[in-house]
Amino acid sequence: MIPTGIMVHSTGANNPNLKRYVGPDDGFLGNNPNNNHWNQYKPDGSAKCVHAFIGKLANGEIATYQTLPWYMRGMHAGGTANTNYIGFEICEDGLNDKNYFDKVYKEAVELTVTLCKIYNIKPEKPNIICHSEGKAMGIASAHADVMHWFPKHGKSMDTFRDDVARELNNTVAPNYPVLKKGDKGESVKTLQNKLNTFGYNLVVDGDFGNKTETALKDFQSKNNLTADGICREKTWAILNSPFKTPEEITIENAVKDGVITEIDYWLNALYGKIAVSKENLKLLMDTYHEVCQAAK
Ligand SMILES: [Zn+2]
Repeated sequence: MIPTGIMVHSTGANNPNLKRYVGPDDGFLGNNPNNNHWNQYKPDGSAKCVHAFIGKLANGEIATYQTLPWYMRGMHAGGTANTNYIGFEICEDGLNDKNYFDKVYKEAVELTVTLCKIYNIKPEKPNIICHSEGKAMGIASAHADVMHWFPKHGKSMDTFRDDVARELNNTVAPNYPVLKKGDKGESVKTLQNKLNTFGYNLVVDGDFGNKTETALKDFQSKNNLTADGICREKTWAILNSPFKTPEEITIENAVKDGVITEIDYWLNALYGKIAVSKENLKLLMDTYHEVCQAAK
């Protein structure tokens, strides 16, 4: 899928330990003797499959575990939000421990900021919502998370979106200056090189002229940015993202960009140790889609 939103969930049970939901034990999670973690495929379609969990490691530290590729359709919303929302779960405790809440809330903000940067998601409604907000919008099932919890500690999804927006504005790559027509130098060369990786054919001369400006405006409009031909932080962030526009997400580009190593990782997680080549990747992806269809 092409993620256009993020849905925040919490687990609805008093168990803040990641090992309850994520397995098997990797040495950090700890052992779950019941082997009832959520990141496993079930042929009867009863599996809940979310993209990540935030909770406690065996040593008590807070961590995020990714359990699906961000661009793979999950099963977390109980509604149509599954088709385009990344869904992550925060492991609930008894809901009254402010110290635990503050830590997992901060972790959730950081994860959301990262995802917003990768997929150019604006930190606003309806892009960033919780399960209960999804219900109100008609795209998720009737669950109360996370609004049965956040307000107990003075937070809400509004504060969450505000905190994500603030973090996003603060985490700007310092090495990428604002560039516009007339600018010259190494950073202009970087910009031209980056634009060329998105299919533009600019001469990399370090001189920001008409052609660079036209290419930049085109890139900006294709990526929902203000097409003003000025390269600012948000444009740099997308230029630096390994992800391209939907039409450009092909196996060939994935190989070229090195993204294939990640696909390789996930396919191996699903199918065991397979040497993934450009040739058999299509077959593996098709098989995976069939598995998804069967599970629906
Ligand atoms: Zn939920």
